[in-house]
Amino acid sequence: MSHHHAPEPSVTRHCDVVVVGGAAAGLAAALQLGRQRRSVIVIDAGEPRNAPAAHMHSFIGRDGTAPGALLADARAEARGYGVEVLSGRVVEASRADDRFVVTLAEGHSVVARRLVVATGLIDELPQIEGLAEHWGDTVIHCPFCHGYEVRDQRLVQVVTHPMGLHTASLFRQLSADLTVLVADGVTVDPEEVEALRAAGVDVRTAEVTRVLTDSGRLSGVELRDGLRIDADAVVVGPRFRPRAEPFAALGVRPVPHPTGLGEVIAVDELGATEVAGVYAVGNVTDPSHQVLQAAAHGSRVGGMIAFGLAADDLHDAARPSGSAADWDHRYSGEQLWSGNPNGSLVAEASGLAVGRALDVGAGEGGDAVWLAEQGWAVTASDISARALDRIGAEAARRGLEITGVLADANARAPFGAGTFDLVAACYASIPRTPDRRGVHNILDAVAPGGTLVVLSHDLEAMHAPEHQHRPFDPDAYVRLEEFAAVLQEAECWTIEVQEKRPRPPGSASAHHHVDDLVLRARRTS
Ligand SMILES: Cc1cc2nc3c(=O)[nH]c(=O)nc-3n(C[C@H](O)[C@H](O)[C@H](O)COP(=O)(O)OP(=O)(O)OC[C@H]3O[C@@H](n4cnc5c(N)ncnc54)[C@H](O)[C@@H]3O)c2cc1C
Repeated sequence: MSHHHAPEPSVTRHCDVVVVGGAAAGLAAALQLGRQRRSVIVIDAGEPRNAPAAHMHSFIGRDGTAPGALLADARAEARGYGVEVLSGRVVEASRADDRFVVTLAEGHSVVARRLVVATGLIDELPQIEGLAEHWGDTVIHCPFCHGYEVRDQRLVQVVTHPMGLHTASLFRQLSADLTVLVADGVTVDPEEVEALRAAGVDVRTAEVTRVLTDSGRLSGVELRDGLRIDADAVVVGPRFRPRAEPFAALGVRPVPHPTGLGEVIAVDELGATEVAGVYAVGNVTDPSHQVLQAAAHGSRVGGMIAFGLAADDLHDAARPSGSAADWDHRYSGEQLWSGNPNGSLVAEASGLAVGRALDVGAGEGGDAVWLAEQGWAVTASDISARALDRIGAEAARRGLEITGVLADANARAPFGAGTFDLVAACYASIPRTPDRRGVHNILDAVAPGGTLVVLSHDLEAMHAPEHQHRPFDPDAYVRLEEFAAVLQEAECWTIEVQEKRPRPPGSASAHHHVDDLVLRARRTS
């Protein structure tokens, strides 16, 4: 394991809601919130509870699919609304004024108005040799998840705590061949034992020392006295531990679960923990949630959080701000921009007759300033007021006139339609929408005969392992390829350039060495 890259400065992102844990519960919350135009960052360590299982059951519409397939679809759906899903692990959470700060293992952090804990739990299996190897396959715990799959098989249920008999009546329904082994010293309800025995279940007091395997398959259990019982599947009742450590410093402390088998984060019917602004959903609050219930819980609580944020914003008369806060913070520190225009824009725009130009996502204005110097009448648009302030100051310093427009490229008709002879979108981070509104808004701004130039990082390359720890999700943003796809379908456009180029030197944030993609198109009518 040697990944040597230059240490990157840690980055702070800002959003409305940070969701820690991106499996069923967290992604369901994120989808609700994304659809309410909230900026959402999900951080997921990629270890959902049911990962050991090959199939997921009892989820209507998805019964029997691979657990990972459901989550892959859920991630894509959330990203379709601009939700970022980052691979990473949150190690700490704290408060800063009225915001929450979560810190990732690599040192990056996310600041948010609300925090959703969707981290799930860790199953703690009884310490029996050979048991863990078959967990999620032929060692099972949940009759609803896997009971049907072991119907009519030889089942051994291992009872290691007083709750261990809880599911025996269900497994008896699923198979006539059920043996229940109650460990020494475990107190179980004698009436329950009587009822099971009367119904033909073999209930014994016995210590299981080993799970037996034959040619890789579970074949039975061995007891302390050496006796072996053949079995096709073993039922256990794990204890559990919530993944709550990172939130302890915030005051989110787990409480004992009524079963006595572990702890959970306590929440009210809105999903709120005792710490205002911190919510918890799914298995971290209730170990009995299957995937459907975990998702339902996340979805419901996501909706409640949307209500709370909307009420705050109503009070402040604030409109949806998208990622404005994030960009405002990024443009509040030292200048990120090198001072030079992007080399690819210079190459693509140099031969054009000057006229009116729109720079979408103008940022600190390197390109806008250069265009103005070439004689273009430049409108610089950005979602960040701070960016526009910087551009204004730079233009004034150079005696240039640049019109600033504070606009979200995903708003409804944010730019004048058919107005500009050149529209440039250079590394414009436009969150996805299912209808590609941002793409259409940018194309619509180009006048007949005008030119569109789109530059972007090669986002596909951002999936390489060395970029995985960067706190940005390339899949939540519109790709250059989508511009090309829309242009190809439209009648009135000619694509003049579409290629990959090495990133020009001197560009901002040169910490990630990926190629640029360049698209130039002309609107014919
Ligand atoms: C073996 C097995 C099989 C199962 N089979 C089924 C089945 O067939 N059908 C069914 O409905 N249910 C099944 N379940 C139950 C199912 O696993 C849970 O209902 C579901 O996983 C709960 O979803 P969740 O989102 O609450 O938590 P999880 O799925 O556990 O997801 C929590 C996520 O948070 C991440 N995370 C944790 N801590 C951090 C951190 N600090 N920073 C960032 N990310 C973090 C984890 O990596 C994980 O991705 C099964 C359970 C087990 C153990």
